[in-house]
Amino acid sequence: MIRGRRVRIVATLGPASSEQHQIQALHEAGVDVFRINMSHADHAHMRTLVGRIRAVETELGHPITILADLQGPKLRIGTLQDGSVDLENGASITLDSDKTPGDASRVYLPHPEILRSLRVGHRLLIDDGKLSLKITDVREGAVTAEVVQGGALSNRKGVSCPDTLLPVGALTAKDMSDLEAVLAADVDWVALSFIQRPEDLAEARKIARGRAALMSKIEKPQAIERLDEIIELSDALMVARGDLGVEMPIEQVPGLQKRITRAARRAGKPVVVATQMLESMISAPVPTRAEVSDVATAVFEGADAVMLSAESATGAFSIESVAMMDKVAKEVEKDENYHSILRAQRFEPEETGADALAAAARQIGETLNVAATVCFTISGTTALRMARERPFSPVLVMSPSEKTARRLGVVWGLHTVVCENKDDLGEMIADAGAAIASQGLGKSGDRLVVVAGLPLNTPGLTNFLQLAFVR
Ligand code: PGA
Ligand code: MN
Repeated sequence: MIRGRRVRIVATLGPASSEQHQIQALHEAGVDVFRINMSHADHAHMRTLVGRIRAVETELGHPITILADLQGPKLRIGTLQDGSVDLENGASITLDSDKTPGDASRVYLPHPEILRSLRVGHRLLIDDGKLSLKITDVREGAVTAEVVQGGALSNRKGVSCPDTLLPVGALTAKDMSDLEAVLAADVDWVALSFIQRPEDLAEARKIARGRAALMSKIEKPQAIERLDEIIELSDALMVARGDLGVEMPIEQVPGLQKRITRAARRAGKPVVVATQMLESMISAPVPTRAEVSDVATAVFEGADAVMLSAESATGAFSIESVAMMDKVAKEVEKDENYHSILRAQRFEPEETGADALAAAARQIGETLNVAATVCFTISGTTALRMARERPFSPVLVMSPSEKTARRLGVVWGLHTVVCENKDDLGEMIADAGAAIASQGLGKSGDRLVVVAGLPLNTPGLTNFLQLAFVR
């Protein structure tokens, strides 16, 4: 499906968007990637959603991408005697290993390993940072903290420890079980929450065994410190601004977004900008000007995708929020400054055949104003390196692998078609021309630039560049 825009749209499914007709309507409004949030979906519901997305895919006849997002080590306090208690600024409170419901003087923290890692001076942020504590004393099985920013503390609120390297991997027991379930359901991407170190990816990688690609959510300061190593080991990145804005000073989030986006683009890994992009549309049909500007900024930065969370999952205007994102993105991509801004941030090709050919193909495409750049790819590598060049022309990706085609749905500028597995290059180019004509990207006689690996169907090989015509 030709979207008429290069940036991709990720939308989270939830109560407002779980029926098959809703999924189809969201897709038609512009959703390229459906996100299933495993913090809220149980296995049976996840499988139902996957089945409904695949049914839409079959009906419409083009690949659709599914991203399963694992909850990760989200820490929570225990319960309180009255469900909630008011903490006063300057008061002191103990977090301990005692399961009994808490009060204003103490509360249960059901994570003994975290209690052991906290040090005097570390901050604890509770309920998305609404409350903040500073540790003043550490003992066996308990810590005492001063209330820096007080407020209502209620049952099972989330806790962030931005100053503490947590002695936990990125996969909890729940994540392990969710990971097996989503892999068995054949999702295309798995997002890993609260990644702290490169090693956090290794465990998931071992379990996934290539069945799904891995997206690292950057939402902790520890991950920012080792960003390049994490990017190297990830298949894609998410700028998870929700938790990032709790764990780091919120005013640093825009700069971090630029840093993560650039680093991911330099590495040629897809990057998704997420959270609160059109937040007010949860309950209003029109977003704020600031939100429109936020979406536009991500598009101008050359992010691969922009994401909707509650807007599409629980909002009253889920379809409208997708349509709005689509409109804003298209308008930015038409802007006279769009290409020059993207070009200013383009990175030199690496010293590989794939990059040399991708850079050349982009250059030729611009010189001759081709109708499209065509990539034949098995593993998707050629297409990813082509997208890294951020070419002006549309990129038609032909792959005999449905898995590859679905995975590439999160990547900037790629229009992917699952093709027959042929070994005759002339026939493949003719098929590409036919696809271009039928999708309205070009007409008979228009020029194409073709990038491939010969012999065809050799994974990981890019060694062929040719000018061709739509016949
Ligand atoms: P979440 O991740 O919605 O799963 O928390 C995104 C974010 O933190 O921004
Ligand atoms: Mn998060």
